[in-house]
Amino acid sequence: MLSNLAARDVETLIHPYTNLETFRETGPLVIERGHGVWVYDSDGRPYLEGMAGLWCTALGYSNEELVEAASEQMARLPFTHLFSGRSHDPAIELAEILKELMPVPTSKIFFTSSGSEANDTQVKLTWYMNNALGRPRKKKILSHIKGYHGVTVATASMTGLPANHADWDLPLPGFLHVGCPHHYRFAEAGESEDAFTTRLAAELEALILREGPETVAAFVAEPVLGAGGAILPPAGYYAKIQAVLDRHDVRFIADEVICGFGRLGTWFGSEAMGMAPDSLSFAKALTSGYLPLGGISVDEPLYRLMVQQSAKLGTFGHGTTYSGHPVACAVALKTIAIYKRDRIIEGVAEKAPQFQARLSALADHPLVGEARGIGLIGGIELVADKASRRQYEPKAGVAARVVAFAQAEGLIVRFLAGDRVAVCPPLVIAPSEIDTLFDRLGRALDRTEAWIAEQGLQ
Ligand code: PMP
Repeated sequence: MLSNLAARDVETLIHPYTNLETFRETGPLVIERGHGVWVYDSDGRPYLEGMAGLWCTALGYSNEELVEAASEQMARLPFTHLFSGRSHDPAIELAEILKELMPVPTSKIFFTSSGSEANDTQVKLTWYMNNALGRPRKKKILSHIKGYHGVTVATASMTGLPANHADWDLPLPGFLHVGCPHHYRFAEAGESEDAFTTRLAAELEALILREGPETVAAFVAEPVLGAGGAILPPAGYYAKIQAVLDRHDVRFIADEVICGFGRLGTWFGSEAMGMAPDSLSFAKALTSGYLPLGGISVDEPLYRLMVQQSAKLGTFGHGTTYSGHPVACAVALKTIAIYKRDRIIEGVAEKAPQFQARLSALADHPLVGEARGIGLIGGIELVADKASRRQYEPKAGVAARVVAFAQAEGLIVRFLAGDRVAVCPPLVIAPSEIDTLFDRLGRALDRTEAWIAEQGLQ
């Protein structure tokens, strides 16, 4: 029997990324409040939030300074916009600070409210740039199979997952996908990581040559692939990709929506993964998830073209009502100040060895084929047979079962396509809580193993 609140939910809400059929039976997990890395459901049960919400609540759930920053700005000026040259000091100050932090040459910052809008802006600006440069055919956008870049028409096209394409009439023409840099799953038998990444770079180049470099505009990639499986590309992969992109004048865009602001133990994932992109997209941990805010970096050559086109067209015709919302900017300013003052990113680098050691140890579990990550993010892949890497039938829902048992153990983790389970806790997680997280995940795996035996799954 669903509680009253749960029943009201089922009758009224459409939930994103939810099986709307089984949901009618299971109902929601209603979260009522949070403290530190813990959230509490409507019955008062605590859960260690092992996913930082949706990879975003870097500073945990009870940061009073962020609350104060929001409430002060809300009281002073709850809204003004950036259209037609209007401005406000939180946006100006935040853009200055972000410009300093960006690991790529940055002339200006453009704000959005979400990661999808940030990546959508990247696509539009890439097209806009190539029109301004007099190369109107150079428009195709490349991204990874299993890459995740958002849900707008363009960004869902970039996302390389079947659920975002089937029945949605996507991807749009001109959005092409390249091989996923997941060695464990996609390397050929006996292929070393080095040989694998060399092959992927060669395949990328072959695709560009087949399509015609004069038609390929940009390659968009996450430093660590998040929603597609929490997949860590092999060392040296991006250097090889970058060399191909440079040869064919293809813009390189890093989607730092998850990796930005410390997740990998560096301010941006590009730094940890050896990427030197032309632009970054960011969101999520920019405000520790407390308010919606995203954005992109704009390099000087692109900015000059934007000025030139504005002169011709009379305006820069892009932006949303909430681009650079003042309350969100005020919270972002405070978030970044805390990252710096409390050495949060250095703290990630310090805690990463413990986190990664506990993660890697899960590979000894009979169900786990791969357990791999970097910084405070990791993915595990469940297999029926370790030697052949064979997986259970997708409809058995083994990863979903791990997540359900984890929830019963008081831990929130997330299952992803391909029987993968992601862990991505708040950056402020304490070493003892890292141990709690992996103890509980281990028990969830044991319970799943017992359940598999009961079900007689092969
Ligand atoms: N890019 C990446 C790497 C993401 O993880 C996400 C969201 N999970 C997005 C883009 C889309 O962001 P949003 O959901 O804020 O639109």
